[in-house]
Amino acid sequence: MPIYSAPVKDIRFLLHEHFTLQHYNAMPAFAEATPDLVDAILDEAAKVAENVYQPLNLSGDEQGCRLEDGKVITPDGFKEAYSQYREGGWQGLTGDAKYGGQGLPQTLGLVLNEILVAANWGFAMYPGLIKGATESIYAWGTDAQKEKYLPKMYSAEWAGTMNLTEPHCGTDLGLLRTKAEPQDDGSYSITGTKIFISAGDHDLTENIIHLVLARIPGGPSGVKGISLFIVPRNVINDDGSIGANNNVSCGSLEEKMGIHSNATCVMNYDGATGYLLGAEHKGMKAMFTMMNEARLGVAIQGLAIAEVAQQNAVAYANDRLQGRALTGPKNPDGPADPIMVHPDVRRMLMTNRAFIEGARAMSIWAGILVDTTRQHPDEGERERAEQLLALITPVLKSYLTDQGVEAASRALQCFGGHGYIREWGMEQFLRDEL
Ligand SMILES: Cc1cc2nc3c(=O)[nH]c(=O)nc-3n(C[C@H](O)[C@H](O)[C@H](O)COP(=O)(O)OP(=O)(O)OC[C@H]3O[C@@H](n4cnc5c(N)ncnc54)[C@H](O)[C@@H]3O)c2cc1C
Repeated sequence: MPIYSAPVKDIRFLLHEHFTLQHYNAMPAFAEATPDLVDAILDEAAKVAENVYQPLNLSGDEQGCRLEDGKVITPDGFKEAYSQYREGGWQGLTGDAKYGGQGLPQTLGLVLNEILVAANWGFAMYPGLIKGATESIYAWGTDAQKEKYLPKMYSAEWAGTMNLTEPHCGTDLGLLRTKAEPQDDGSYSITGTKIFISAGDHDLTENIIHLVLARIPGGPSGVKGISLFIVPRNVINDDGSIGANNNVSCGSLEEKMGIHSNATCVMNYDGATGYLLGAEHKGMKAMFTMMNEARLGVAIQGLAIAEVAQQNAVAYANDRLQGRALTGPKNPDGPADPIMVHPDVRRMLMTNRAFIEGARAMSIWAGILVDTTRQHPDEGERERAEQLLALITPVLKSYLTDQGVEAASRALQCFGGHGYIREWGMEQFLRDEL
């Protein structure tokens, strides 16, 4: 069985010694994040990740999600693990206190995300999508929309998704066809089909708040005519209770190479009631708030899988006895030396270690930039951070995921033929990462 131990010591070193987070307390979130509090949160996150999420990683991959009577069922144990996640108050950690969040730095959220993804990537994507959706609602929503959705999403009672892709339109979103027809009461009737929607449906929450890109008839063609809508799966009654289905359904589940425990859904909107988020025809701008968040999240996935794959490879290399060291036996009483003595095995592990340490430092730096753009009292500092973040976000997404694949592949190679065998978990890391 694969192992995982959250790299709390390395993270602490970066947060407290290298980046010295306490220097950032010109920003309110950092003033709250004292080293003691950060350490306590890290310790608790490590405990839950190692004991609750990680043990479900292999079984979640083997079982996957299934569609029963139009509803998506997550793998065994996911509902219970999600209840623990919700009760632990993890989702609202970085959310605005005005809407029930805890107001801690995004930097801390990023670090915790690494731990969650490394423990169980498929599981981590459910909360990850909520985070992306709340970021868009927070940035573009009216006060009434924020009050309606954010508290329930920060508490993880309601989930979230992002709906861009359609069968004929992926990268080129200007081609999208989903229609949003204005209604007399100010809402819109949303009709169309979206594909590849992560966490599009599941049994973890009582409602799912979909963010859907659609076209208002009569608007400009191409990307300039796209608007963003909030479309709850279930109607939310005036008293806040959950009503009937809002003509939103999951048509089917994609069978895919990895991340089996996360539902990738075909979503049908058949005259669903939607509410404009941000301005008409400015949907791409609003969606980019979520996409930037998602891009950093994807970068962290590259790092997280490299870390967990590396931990398993190191443990195996210290344990597996094959051949003798070039410099003479290092385990003279045993039948052979551990493969850790062989230069090429060391090369693979050291290459991974160098990548992981650099990638983690870069990610934390990006987290500090995110906090600076939002909170720094000096406008010049905010602007500088924004420009750096715009430059570094795609670089991190691309480099950390590309190298994450290479790192997972090298870690698998350390296992020889055993890397190809399911029970070791290494092929899952590589499949998920690819
Ligand atoms: C597991 C998984 C989860 C996903 N989750 C979501 C989700 O939650 N929500 C959502 O909306 N979508 C989701 N997607 C969809 C994902 O965002 C799309 O797959 C992506 O946008 C690419 O679109 P496409 O697959 O249609 O590829 P295409 O756009 O058809 O591209 C095919 C190839 O051509 C290249 N290409 C296209 N245009 C250009 C260009 N102008 N210049 C150079 N190269 C180009 C692409 O890089 C790619 O290699 C998910 C996909 C997967 C696999």
